[in-house]
Amino acid sequence: MTHSDRAAIVGAGPNGLAAAVTLARAGVPVTVFEAAETIGGGTRTTELVRPGVLHDVCSAIHPMALATGFFRAFELERRMEFAIPEVSFANPLDGAAGSPLRSGGRDRAAIAYRSLDRTAAELGLDGAAYARFYRPLLRRLEGVVDFALGGSMVRVPRDPIAAVLTGLRTFEQGTPLWNLRFREEAAPALISGVAAHSIGRMPNLATAAVGTVLGALAHTVGWPVPIGGSRAITDALAADLLAHGGRIETSHPIDDLAELDGYRVKLLDTSARGLLRIAGEALPARYRRALARFRFGDAATKVDFVLDGPIPWRDPRVSDAPTVHLGGSRREGAAAEQEVARGRHPERPYVLLAQTAGLDPSRNPEGVNAIWSYTHVPSGSNVDMSGPVIDQIERFAPGFRDRIVDVRVTTAAQLADYNRNYAGGDFSAGAVTMRQLLARPIVSAEPWRTPVPGLYLCSSSASPGPGVHGLSGWYAARAALRREYGLPAPELGLG
Ligand SMILES: Cc1cc2nc3c(=O)[nH]c(=O)nc-3n(C[C@H](O)[C@H](O)[C@H](O)COP(=O)(O)OP(=O)(O)OC[C@H]3O[C@@H](n4cnc5c(N)ncnc54)[C@H](O)[C@@H]3O)c2cc1C
Repeated sequence: MTHSDRAAIVGAGPNGLAAAVTLARAGVPVTVFEAAETIGGGTRTTELVRPGVLHDVCSAIHPMALATGFFRAFELERRMEFAIPEVSFANPLDGAAGSPLRSGGRDRAAIAYRSLDRTAAELGLDGAAYARFYRPLLRRLEGVVDFALGGSMVRVPRDPIAAVLTGLRTFEQGTPLWNLRFREEAAPALISGVAAHSIGRMPNLATAAVGTVLGALAHTVGWPVPIGGSRAITDALAADLLAHGGRIETSHPIDDLAELDGYRVKLLDTSARGLLRIAGEALPARYRRALARFRFGDAATKVDFVLDGPIPWRDPRVSDAPTVHLGGSRREGAAAEQEVARGRHPERPYVLLAQTAGLDPSRNPEGVNAIWSYTHVPSGSNVDMSGPVIDQIERFAPGFRDRIVDVRVTTAAQLADYNRNYAGGDFSAGAVTMRQLLARPIVSAEPWRTPVPGLYLCSSSASPGPGVHGLSGWYAARAALRREYGLPAPELGLG
């Protein structure tokens, strides 16, 4: 390869770095330009709340770190340390009088173990129905993951039976039929709690698709916890890139495509809006209109805590869950999401909480418990949600408030300032709707490719969408290697 074959990547999030690694491994000279002072995008871990205590700034939960195509090919598991907990996630509930959830006068939680059988056994009357929901998906997990995350949605799935099974379950959970197979609150709350990882009214097909796939991963490979935090994923990617001759320039925003003249190929780990801004008039009018139609969604506000001890969960089993969904019952969770969709801040919000004290001492020094949480808010919100978030945790863990030593709020508006991909605080870089899962950002077998020769979009604004999986970057880079260089996809493993 010569100097004129160089490729530029704009943005050093997991997708930008995945694209860079893929190109560098194929022998392409790569430079990554990152606007911020540090690399990582949504996978950074810092002393966010107080010195000596590490918090993930954005992503903390990694259901896709072990089972999806790019990280498997890259052998991420061999490059860093993960703890794989027996409990994938928990959903505390108030035990209504007479409900089997109430045991010995104490409120209980619904617990999703890696073992589906154990989960079902502790779920009460709906255990068998919950197992029947997931079991067929677990038997065809590869096909399920391929259908949901295997590339553009415009393609023939490798395992049509897995695709049909996923589609049927998505339809069931994404429509008013969602309670049909259940009689109690626990099992539906478990499923909705996962679906709410993506923001939106419930039931709806897009969030149901997310819930179905992440739930299937929870009961197979589990939801691994990176030791050292999400930054360990960034570090593993950057180390491989540098080892293969790639370069990274931080504090180097790219605002105009002209700044990249001289690079044969350009891959943008920017939002669709960023692509529009950077490439502007170079893009044909029709494509510009398509990008302008791409909608951003509601947002997240983070509330991170330092505690002086464990969270006093009413149901002690919740202590073993690195991920906790705090929305109460399915009905309550749906009501909270409805409020957000109407532009309001819910009094009893859905809260996603991560606790790693038992698993990762590097983030939780002696006597300290670093808690990560976020809740959903309307786009652009600057409201401090610490009050409702603390109330919601306190509801299921009385005494939590007394354990707080420090707290830091990052509003949706501040998240948008922190990372220009998160317009209005939308961490998905584009609303997750059925339309935008198909058209991400356009309907195409190669949605990463733009009409400008050599220009690609490789962020979560492109298929398969948000989350830390590196797939948008990997697919975009493979398309670029094939089309622009006539090269096959390289091996990414450790050999
Ligand atoms: C609060 C929060 C919680 C989250 N929780 C989870 C979670 O638990 N699990 C999960 O899987 N996902 C989670 N996510 C989402 C996840 O972080 C993103 O989906 C993922 O990081 C997207 O990767 P990316 O590479 O596409 O973009 P990003 O990670 O956003 O990286 C894009 C990078 O490009 C840079 N950039 C943008 N424009 C330019 C420019 N013009 N010039 C130079 N650089 C530029 C940005 O500075 C940024 O570093 C969360 C996100 C947030 C904000």
